[in-house]
Amino acid sequence: MIVVLHPNASEEKVKELHTWLESYNVKIAPINGVHKSVFGLIGDTSKIDINAIRAYDIVDTVTRVQEPYKNANRKMHPEDTVIDVNGIKIGGGNFAVIAGPCSVESEHQIIEVAQRVKAAGANFLRGGAFKPRTSPYTFQGLRAEGIELLLEAKKVTGLPIVTEIMSLSHLDLFADVDVIQVGARNMQNFELLKELGHCKKPILLKRGLANTIEELLMSAEYITAGGNTNIILCERGIRTFEPTTRNTLDISAVPILKKLSHFPVIVDPSHASGITWLVEPLSKSAIAAGCDGLIIEVHDNPKAALSDGAQSLNPDEFDGVMSSLKKYIQAENKVM
Ligand code: PEP
Ligand code: MN
Repeated sequence: MIVVLHPNASEEKVKELHTWLESYNVKIAPINGVHKSVFGLIGDTSKIDINAIRAYDIVDTVTRVQEPYKNANRKMHPEDTVIDVNGIKIGGGNFAVIAGPCSVESEHQIIEVAQRVKAAGANFLRGGAFKPRTSPYTFQGLRAEGIELLLEAKKVTGLPIVTEIMSLSHLDLFADVDVIQVGARNMQNFELLKELGHCKKPILLKRGLANTIEELLMSAEYITAGGNTNIILCERGIRTFEPTTRNTLDISAVPILKKLSHFPVIVDPSHASGITWLVEPLSKSAIAAGCDGLIIEVHDNPKAALSDGAQSLNPDEFDGVMSSLKKYIQAENKVM
């Protein structure tokens, strides 16, 4: 519920209304980016009589927010949220590219890839340490050692690191990770989301394989409910009947998420397509659709990759893709 007050409302009357609303056990948040005095009410507002609020003479308008996501809703936060990782920004006109291998495989591999993606213009290094694999018999990631190697690559290149968490029991290992990724398979791991709500780190939340846009926003809402509003949403393709690509990139999710929510939206053309040559055209369409960044898999030797080689660009291919994307990013008036 959004309560807009008359601009000349006295402090005393505002306080009185605030106290009365609080008696309904709702959280009252100021609405950012709005100059007027506005209260955003979060929680169960169903018991509050809207006419009783209107009866306060300091109240201008009252509107119910119909959507089940409140903190994640652009109505509650009209301005774009900008995620700032040591000065590198995503959202609000800032574009970022996250690049790196699907899995961290060795010190040589991750440092080589980190140096090459940095030289090509990437802002973040990605790399899976804990890997969600369909088969228990395939490479499961280097786990804690993988995170150590990412930190090593960060030391060498200065690139902040992004890596996926799969279990709450590993949270301590993520203390020095810059952005924690929640992968598609864990998008609705609500206990994980609740706990990540209590940390301050940016969370890269990927859309589930078979989840709706609203479900993605409700998962973001879980994180915000604990107090963490540093969220980057990621469209990474969904399951459809089309077998040519690994998933189907839901390009319309980009403008829809940007309209419904204030969080930055990035696109993963690698997992969306599963095919290297599709990474460039999907990236271009994602930029044109208004995304705030991309996450792209890059491997020093894709043919020998322990996971997702078929969708991983080699460093030379990544150079080519980055140079061809630059004018698209500029055309959208985004800065990198
Ligand atoms: C990944 O980014 O390596 C990954 C496993 O992605 P997703 O969760 O989107 O499948
Ligand atoms: Mn992958």
